[in-house]
Amino acid sequence: MRYSIISVLSQGLRGQKGWTRAWRDAEPRPQYDVVIVGGGGHGLATAYYLAKEHGISNIAVLEKSYIGSGNVGRNTTIIRSNYLHPANARFYEWSLKLWEGLEQDLNYNVMVSQRGVLNLFHSDGQRDAFARRGNAMRLNDIDAGLLDEAEVRRLLPYLDFDNARFPIRGGLLQPRGGTVRHDAVAWGYARGADRRGVDIIQNCEVTGIRIERGRVAGVETNRGFIRAGKVALCCAGNSSQVATMAGLRLPIESHVMQAFVTESVKPLVDMVVTFGAGHFYISQSNRGGLVFGGDIDGYNSYAQRGNLPTVEAVMESAMALMPGLGRLRVLRQWGGLMDMSMDGSPIIGLTPVEGIYLNAGWCYGGFKATPASGWCFAWTIARNQPHELNAPFRLDRFASGHVIDEKGAGAQPNLH
Ligand SMILES: Cc1cc2nc3c(=O)[nH]c(=O)nc-3n(C[C@H](O)[C@H](O)[C@H](O)COP(=O)(O)OP(=O)(O)OC[C@H]3O[C@@H](n4cnc5c(N)ncnc54)[C@H](O)[C@@H]3O)c2cc1C
Repeated sequence: MRYSIISVLSQGLRGQKGWTRAWRDAEPRPQYDVVIVGGGGHGLATAYYLAKEHGISNIAVLEKSYIGSGNVGRNTTIIRSNYLHPANARFYEWSLKLWEGLEQDLNYNVMVSQRGVLNLFHSDGQRDAFARRGNAMRLNDIDAGLLDEAEVRRLLPYLDFDNARFPIRGGLLQPRGGTVRHDAVAWGYARGADRRGVDIIQNCEVTGIRIERGRVAGVETNRGFIRAGKVALCCAGNSSQVATMAGLRLPIESHVMQAFVTESVKPLVDMVVTFGAGHFYISQSNRGGLVFGGDIDGYNSYAQRGNLPTVEAVMESAMALMPGLGRLRVLRQWGGLMDMSMDGSPIIGLTPVEGIYLNAGWCYGGFKATPASGWCFAWTIARNQPHELNAPFRLDRFASGHVIDEKGAGAQPNLH
């Protein structure tokens, strides 16, 4: 069923009775050309682009829970491409370009809102670093503008500019950055993949990976063995656990990250704003709630819920930046599992086991990467070699020393 203004009007006249399911609830078959483990944004996007761009549709996406139950439905919806290093800049800019055409491509309203992303700076040194980043972005054909204090005051008059410890001196703006409705992205890609013949199988947990004569043979699941020519791992916060089933040890730690939403207020924060003196960022949802988050929790965990010390740290940053927030009630809070790589950049590529492909290490920023990640990973799986956009994100860079340390923070997940 194609979605259009005509279909909305005609369904309205027919009492909304004629809508069909957006994707089938498929049963597992004994064998596929490609099995994708993980029905998050990246797994579903990979299936979609494999079918659309490479004509491979004998694919199963295996999801241990339901579509959208992972980080794709838990993130704070921010998209941007304001990176310093060429590898990240090119990759995330390609993602932003795909976001810009995604609704037409998928025939699905994922609510792409390019409202701008503003990174605030609070000192001369930080301004210089942001100017350098902005220049690097422009050299990579990415939109960037350096705002002084007066311009930020005009845009966001309610911030605490004269905070004694963290006075706001200006900001680096990427006007094309913004937000996208996160769970609609999972649903849109699921629908697009399903229409091209992909089986999306929910409640199907991969419990083992079978390797025969050095090459992958298939996956063991709670619904039986499924033979596969190729197995693609897109398990975000569970990457290390699943890769271990194939004998792979990854340079990744799993950490919880929390998000918060306040009660609804009238339009107030009309862009995404990040605090430069602490880990805190804020935007406003279309329903009016202020959506914000901060740093990862302090220790490794596989629990999809957060801890109070981080709640306190996020609230402190919130009050330092925007004291008026203290008048609002936080309605909801949740946690998701972040797969933190040791240089803050992702891994998309081949592995030492023939037929197993890895998509992992998304840290804080995997949602905005979803389209480019799926697009590049599909290319890599179909051709058995990386595209030039994801060639730098190889797994063996940690062994060879070719890390892409965007923040220069080293192997410290809480600093990326
Ligand atoms: C609170 C929070 C805020 C964030 N904010 C942003 C943001 O604003 N912008 C941004 O770009 N990024 C953000 N991120 C990061 C982003 O959400 C993730 O990097 C990205 O969603 C990860 O890729 P995914 O969508 O494929 O992951 P997921 O949706 O987590 O998909 C992985 C799937 O694998 C499944 N799985 C795991 N093990 C198995 C198994 N054995 N068998 C079968 N299935 C399995 C899981 O159930 C899960 O559904 C945020 C993350 C969190 C937690």
